[in-house]
Amino acid sequence: MSKNVDVFMETVRAKNPGQKEFLQAVEEVVESIMPILDKNPNYKQAKILERIVEPERVIMFRVPWVDDEGEIQVNRGFRVEFNSAIGPYKGGLRFHASVNLSILKFLGFEQTFKNSLTTLPMGGGKGGADFDAHGKSDNEIMRFCQSFMAELYRHIGPNTDVPAGDIGVGGREIGYLFGMYKKLKNEFTGILTGKGRNWGGSLIRPEATGFGGTYFAQNMLKTKNDTFEGKIVTLSGFGNVTWGAALKVTELGGKVVTISGPDGYVYDEDGISGEKIDYLLELRSSNNDIVSPYVEKFPNAKFYPNKKPWEVKCDIAMPCAIQNELNEDDAKALIANGVQYISELSNMGCTPEAIKAFHSAKIFFGPGKAANAGGVAVSGLEMSQNSMRFNWSSEEVDEKLKTIMKDIHDQCVKYGTEGDYINHVNGANIAGFIKVADSMLDQGVV
Ligand code: GLU
Repeated sequence: MSKNVDVFMETVRAKNPGQKEFLQAVEEVVESIMPILDKNPNYKQAKILERIVEPERVIMFRVPWVDDEGEIQVNRGFRVEFNSAIGPYKGGLRFHASVNLSILKFLGFEQTFKNSLTTLPMGGGKGGADFDAHGKSDNEIMRFCQSFMAELYRHIGPNTDVPAGDIGVGGREIGYLFGMYKKLKNEFTGILTGKGRNWGGSLIRPEATGFGGTYFAQNMLKTKNDTFEGKIVTLSGFGNVTWGAALKVTELGGKVVTISGPDGYVYDEDGISGEKIDYLLELRSSNNDIVSPYVEKFPNAKFYPNKKPWEVKCDIAMPCAIQNELNEDDAKALIANGVQYISELSNMGCTPEAIKAFHSAKIFFGPGKAANAGGVAVSGLEMSQNSMRFNWSSEEVDEKLKTIMKDIHDQCVKYGTEGDYINHVNGANIAGFIKVADSMLDQGVV
């Protein structure tokens, strides 16, 4: 690590003690952009780096609700409005037991650069709650969402902050949140993205993160004159992102052989395609957060309890679950088994040591802020359609998504090419940073 990075990180650590995920995300970006800062005195003089690591606003609130037994429950809600230099705050809501301020600050920070890469005018934000949907009834989920929105509504707006889904927040939760916002404000506006098709949602939004991450991988493959045809692909997770990726990988001729949950992973040698992909939606809506029922339904597949899919031989690995789900040992196992490409669909899915291992082995690694930007990109397209009061067809949205993912890949190549290798991490961080930093310079000290 360079001395400048070290010195800067000391100050960030002192200001944000114990926020390990946030510090991890900041360090990765700072390592990539320090050479750019060293060359650009304007950024230094305007203290862009010091300002960009500080969220513009953090809102933390009580979320009380009554469960089916009549007991009062209390959760903690958050919205981190990180950076609005290039557009209204934009980013998802995560409902998961692990949610805390460090995780939401890391996600909001990442989102700022990710949204910048999409080429669309969106700032960065993230929010959520430490709510565990595991075993909750539909009514409990509705009451929780209503209580959450009863506070959040006063902080958001179509030109201020536009939340969406993330882990634990899908179409059902967005519906309950939207309904409550509309009731409180008496206003039908595009306040959330990932809405239902009948009430302002965009076609392809549910598939967008998975499709986008697959298009990103396709662009990486193209630089080596390669395609998905016949490739063995390992995915983790079994939610919305995994589902979209499985659909697109299969369509492009790849064979998806794994999915996973907190309980372990499933290996399906025959390939996870067709009705097996549809079944993922059923698994997710059961609220049980386990993947093992897959092998009861499709007995040819094998379930490996408490293990991760990265021990399976593959050509392309696509982590789709949660931060730090792929560590150095997993990376080494993948490399030993001949992996050629990693497309990170989860946010910060790989640890810094894992990324280092991929870089040392000259394996192409597409980082989350580039590879998983398809989701928020189609959210941006949903905002445009809402503003126009118009709907584009699936083909139109998909075409735009493809173009955006190619643009993101091009930016990674432009800023990340190092001899005959492309360091997509540096490329994404530098390209994402420059647009936000230049906009901050233009707008003065605010
Ligand atoms: N949660 C998604 C992400 O991590 C989507 C955010 C959005 O659509 O606003 O990018």
